[in-house]
Amino acid sequence: MLLPTTMRAMRKLRGQAGLDFCTIPVPVCGPRDVLIRVRITGICGTDLHIYNWDAWSQNRIKPPLTTGHEFVGDIVALGAEVHGLSLGQRVSAEGHITCGQCRLCRTGRGHICRTFKGVGVDREGCFADYIAVPAQNVWPVPAGVPDMFAAIYDPLGNAMHTVMSAPVSLKNVLVMGAGAIGLFAVSIAKVAGAANVMVVEPNATRIDLARKAGADLVLNPRTDDVPALVRRATSNEGPEVVLEMSGNAKAMQQAFSLVATGGTMCLLGIPGTPVDINWAEDIMFKGITIHGITGRRMFETWFQVDEFLLHHSARLAASVTHTMPCAAYEEAFALMNAGACGKINLTWA
Ligand SMILES: [Zn+2]
Ligand SMILES: [Zn+2]
Repeated sequence: MLLPTTMRAMRKLRGQAGLDFCTIPVPVCGPRDVLIRVRITGICGTDLHIYNWDAWSQNRIKPPLTTGHEFVGDIVALGAEVHGLSLGQRVSAEGHITCGQCRLCRTGRGHICRTFKGVGVDREGCFADYIAVPAQNVWPVPAGVPDMFAAIYDPLGNAMHTVMSAPVSLKNVLVMGAGAIGLFAVSIAKVAGAANVMVVEPNATRIDLARKAGADLVLNPRTDDVPALVRRATSNEGPEVVLEMSGNAKAMQQAFSLVATGGTMCLLGIPGTPVDINWAEDIMFKGITIHGITGRRMFETWFQVDEFLLHHSARLAASVTHTMPCAAYEEAFALMNAGACGKINLTWA
């Protein structure tokens, strides 16, 4: 196939809010890389941070940079040393490029490699017509998985990793925050056999989406007495499992005070500043287990997402609220800033 020499890309060109639609060279496909023609990309909270140019982005991002790390596309070129993949294959990819050498990488814990490079964060991303990624990060998508879900393996993997860190089967599960990953976690927890999934979320749109994702009880912290209602729904014990997806300090404090004695806390939402937690009362005397969750298990989480998408993707339909052409990205980011959406996908056809 004859490839073009230039392509469209959505880039952070300078240290200020917004992104620019640019024409840049198609990336070079190194000997161990594959070049992928992007079909659909998902917009992540990380992309929103970069778009808004918040404090985290100012410290981490070095413009110019093409953002984005959630995608599905087709392989259009293979590096000379790549085996086991083929031209035309539909693929997604793990967005953490790990070193492969450190103690963590060599003991099956590459998701917490200290020197990983993030696609669309530390290296060129997927908000473009083409992306080159190392072949070892490529994930072939099974034929039965629709594109709209194949584009979001990455955040589904975050949700999967979080839910699978705790024994949710026939337990009371509390999900703090119903952004896209929180919504996915609700659906995954139900499929994984949670008896009762409760959600705490203040945003009206997301309250509605949480119900559609399968939550048994959705509480609004602005209007509901969350502690009383959660205790009532859990025989006064509190939830055995809490999935913290909000990163909001108040929600985190409430989560620690509500989790059942002997329960499990899985932390995915990233707070912007340190959070005060009552160590003695809420952690030690209750004997809880805390899991810090980052990224996806490589690649166990990906196999689990495959199975979820092959057998249960209909449960996610309501959580992907928008599919928009990539040129409408400013409207998409405005929806995200307003919290008026679940997952938003952009098409690059
Ligand atoms: Zn993401
Ligand atoms: Zn490493």
